[in-house]
Amino acid sequence: MELKRREFHVVRYRTLRDCLAEYFGCKPAEVPKRGHWHWTDMDGKRHKDTMAKTMRRMRNRGCWGWCEGKAKIHVWINSRCKPIDAIALIAHEIGHTQKPFRATSDAEERKANTYESVAKGAIQVYGALFVDRRK
Ligand SMILES: [Zn+2]
Repeated sequence: MELKRREFHVVRYRTLRDCLAEYFGCKPAEVPKRGHWHWTDMDGKRHKDTMAKTMRRMRNRGCWGWCEGKAKIHVWINSRCKPIDAIALIAHEIGHTQKPFRATSDAEERKANTYESVAKGAIQVYGALFVDRRK
């Protein structure tokens, strides 16, 4: 197992639609409104939602991203996004850039979810130990 962190770079988008257009390889106006989206939750359980429901969830969270290949992270983060959600998203996508790369997409998602979970846990511990005591 290689412990040295692999390099990556980040592309930020002004709108969710622009980020999704790059993901689908289409123009922003052509981002699919129909169809389904498959995703894996933190417990490794697979889900299937409509595109409309998926986009509502992305907009409500205020951020979304994806990893192209093993070194290019694409993110959309709006000003209403909670810092914990933005950091969790970025940690998740960084997870996709790090070895060991998994053979299946489910296993790769579980690996990235571990990075996300560690980042969220660290923020929560920091908040509990330091930030909350300042009040
Ligand atoms: Zn992922």
